[in-house]
Amino acid sequence: MTVRTRIAPSPTGDPHVGTAYVALFNYALARRHGGQFILRIEDTDRERSSAASEAMIFEALRWLGLEWDEGPDVGGPVGPYRQSERTAIYREHVEVLVEKGAAYPCFCTRERLDALRAEQKAQKLNFGYDGRCRGLPADEARKRQEAGETHVIRLAMPDEGQVVVPDLLRGEIEFDNAQIDDQVLLKSDGFPTYHLANVVDDHLMGITHVIRAEEWLSSLPKHVRLYEGFGWEPPVFCHLPLLRNADRSKISKRKNPVSLNFYRGAGYLPEAMVNYLALMGWAMPDEREEFTLEEFIAEFSLERVSLGGPVFDVEKLKWLNGKYLRRLAPPEILDRLRAGPLSDEHLLEVLPLVQERVDTLEDFFAYAGFFFTGDVTLDDEALKALVPKGRSAPETAKLLRALLEEEVDRVLDWNAGALEEGLRRFAEAKGWTAKELFMTVRVATTGRKASPPLFETLAVLGKETCRRRLRGAVETLKGRKS
Ligand code: GLU
Repeated sequence: MTVRTRIAPSPTGDPHVGTAYVALFNYALARRHGGQFILRIEDTDRERSSAASEAMIFEALRWLGLEWDEGPDVGGPVGPYRQSERTAIYREHVEVLVEKGAAYPCFCTRERLDALRAEQKAQKLNFGYDGRCRGLPADEARKRQEAGETHVIRLAMPDEGQVVVPDLLRGEIEFDNAQIDDQVLLKSDGFPTYHLANVVDDHLMGITHVIRAEEWLSSLPKHVRLYEGFGWEPPVFCHLPLLRNADRSKISKRKNPVSLNFYRGAGYLPEAMVNYLALMGWAMPDEREEFTLEEFIAEFSLERVSLGGPVFDVEKLKWLNGKYLRRLAPPEILDRLRAGPLSDEHLLEVLPLVQERVDTLEDFFAYAGFFFTGDVTLDDEALKALVPKGRSAPETAKLLRALLEEEVDRVLDWNAGALEEGLRRFAEAKGWTAKELFMTVRVATTGRKASPPLFETLAVLGKETCRRRLRGAVETLKGRKS
């Protein structure tokens, strides 16, 4: 049997370290056994999916050297590899399930479902569909479907008994069928949900090992039921432990940078990042902590993955990165700098913003320094300007926190036009004047009261640097009263 693994990200935001972690383990298993590693884009959530996010996922995985053998951009024998291009396949398949009685059309209206939810809430029950449409006679259901009545297709879960799901690392896990909802498989707009598309694709794409994050374990009973419904042999399932913050909570952007763009932009070396991710839930047989991707692949086996929640500790990653950096010969470091902060591309973005404001070339280094560093430190003057007159430090910190959560995360296409529009809208929504907000953001992101044009500057700094400095400003304001 040829091992075939996949990474199946949803393109709904910045490329996440968790995606790289799961991709790495899938990649290693496929390479270890001379198999194939596939990239599939799970973009069935039409509202949240975006081409910008997809492009960033491709770039980030390539930066780490985790090349895929088949995928939306490189093609392959079992494509298309983007779920939005496979909707006809899902519709065909869901029909098969309905015919076999493993799924059924449900005509319940939003109002009915809302009322049901309210009732279950009042009775302190878990929400679940009550199965009303499961009992409809097949010919009546068919007629209503053909008449064009709005409906979804649901998975028919048995009301009693248990479903036993196998996980390579945890053994067999039992779930009560009664606890599992009649999951919607096909939405009323004809788009599949994650569960249907994921199972159909893993089967049609010949995936032999589904290696994914632990958070999907609770979906496994539904998936197993789908495999049964189709009469398909399920793949091996292996749920990797969740990455955690230092305080052991699930890794989150509130506590750690989680975007791969952050690490790339901050000049972490991809080989150090890969090495660090390979230590998450994994140890080399000889326990050594530094190794190359090739060495990892040579030793890799899923059975060696341990379940104790691995801590993604940025300080440790930085330490490891330093070791890698010091091992490079200076000309190699120069190459890396020239590929990043000192690339012509970056310099040519910075220069036009600075040109008007310097008189000699040496001034450039003093003036433009903030384009090349990570954090900025605020001097007294900057600190004063960070909080607008008439506003307090806590109020400003709160606003910047909201800005991070509501705007910065949302803007995927980080360009001057989008930023100006977003910031103006945000100021208005929060009852700040544009002038107040712009000054606060300017000081937080550049460390100074006067800077090149704000939106162009933010665009060149990049989202991750801006995020980091805004967070830094929130920290600075913490504990200050006025
Ligand atoms: N689209 C899911 C995700 O974003 C895939 C989960 C899986 O691998 O089954 O993680």
